[in-house]
Amino acid sequence: MLDVVIVGAGPTGLWLAGELRLGGATVTVLEARQERDVNSKALTIHPRTIELFDCRGVVEPFLAEGIRIPNGHFGGLPDRLDFAVLDTPHPFTLALPQVRTEELLEQRAAELGATIRRGRPVTGLVERGVELAGGEVVAARYVVGCDGTRSTVRTAAGIDFPGTDATTWGWLGDVVLDDPPARGFTSATGIDGGLMVVPLPGGVHRIVGGDPATNRPEWPGELTLDELRATVKAIAGTDFGMRDPRWLSRFGNATRQATTYRAGHVLLAGDAAHMHFPTGGVGMNVGIQDAHNLGWKLAAVATGSADEALLDSYHTERHPVGAALLAHTRAQTALMTAFTPEGQALRALLSGLIASAPDMSRELAERLSGLDVAYATGRRVPDQRLPDGETLFTRLRGGGHVQTPAGLVRPDGHLA
Ligand SMILES: Cc1cc2nc3c(=O)[nH]c(=O)nc-3n(C[C@H](O)[C@H](O)[C@H](O)COP(=O)(O)OP(=O)(O)OC[C@H]3O[C@@H](n4cnc5c(N)ncnc54)[C@H](O)[C@@H]3O)c2cc1C
Repeated sequence: MLDVVIVGAGPTGLWLAGELRLGGATVTVLEARQERDVNSKALTIHPRTIELFDCRGVVEPFLAEGIRIPNGHFGGLPDRLDFAVLDTPHPFTLALPQVRTEELLEQRAAELGATIRRGRPVTGLVERGVELAGGEVVAARYVVGCDGTRSTVRTAAGIDFPGTDATTWGWLGDVVLDDPPARGFTSATGIDGGLMVVPLPGGVHRIVGGDPATNRPEWPGELTLDELRATVKAIAGTDFGMRDPRWLSRFGNATRQATTYRAGHVLLAGDAAHMHFPTGGVGMNVGIQDAHNLGWKLAAVATGSADEALLDSYHTERHPVGAALLAHTRAQTALMTAFTPEGQALRALLSGLIASAPDMSRELAERLSGLDVAYATGRRVPDQRLPDGETLFTRLRGGGHVQTPAGLVRPDGHLA
């Protein structure tokens, strides 16, 4: 029998698989899709996630391939948040398509000895393990649902997912632009809607935004290139010469969180545990950070070196982080969809306040970056040189606890 079966080979499941192997647990990942989705939802990797990759010795390809962006935004407000002030070796976000992030995470999981089986949709839970379409049973002592917002594992475990349905719909197009913005990147917001244009690798740009016509609960239907052209022109005064769409999509602001992240031998992480509007670009980051919190604990329990009660701390520590994520994405959604003169005035007011108050700007940057996360023992311990000359982040690569002058640091970088 396996120690752990993970359902879903998205970023959360793949990072978890590597963490479990590092802790010595046997693990198989079951993924419904035969092939990886080539369309990348996420582009943004935030500083705390970059630190996690650093703490496991796999940050180099991310730094080499990702585009460094030294600032962020809150709710698309025009005054940008300066990430350079953050207390981290990586004070920037990295723009890297999710498909590439997943490839790198899968490579690491496989190198550490995780088995990843594709084309294997899980249909339900059994006493100890899961059942696949076709009836095959994969036996495991623990099951982790990393299977996204419609999680089969969550439903089969009877875990509630309360929250609110979508009231607004954003849109995105990955398109070729004959007349791109001068610096490659631009944003615009007004009563006709708001948008951002971001360059992607391969000569493609992502145009992402929202507008008053889709600021309502009803599903607006599939997005067409003609509709995107007309909407973008109304907001930005130009359609940037868009053509050849690679991906057109809509996404809603349904906001939900699992009532518990653990039910006996079943656990949830990532989008299976929390869903929200993608404003701020944090969902994938928080999913990977869930996996980082859970991995060493579950490995220790599954291999018999820690008591089962350690697993309860996963819910205790990560559920409040998920709740905070939902709260700040709701606030950002309100700002991003304020397509009225009053809403625009509120945006201008807040933007000015953030620009004139460095503490407020820093606080928001810490919140988005994931560096503000604090458990009962406090925030993560920043990188530092240890008495023997090695750095903390380097020492954490082995996946064990590390003794520092500040105290014993857990494998996930927080004080024990
Ligand atoms: C437009 C958009 C932009 C975004 N931008 C960002 C961003 O910039 N930064 C950021 O951090 N986040 C962003 N996000 C959010 C991010 O994409 C998600 O939070 C992230 O994909 C969650 O990862 P996950 O591994 O938890 O789930 P998923 O990526 O959903 O992966 C779940 C996996 O489980 C598989 N699966 C599902 N059911 C089963 C089953 N029954 N059996 C087996 N396998 C199954 C699926 O095929 C899938 O591969 C964005 C989202 C959207 C929609």
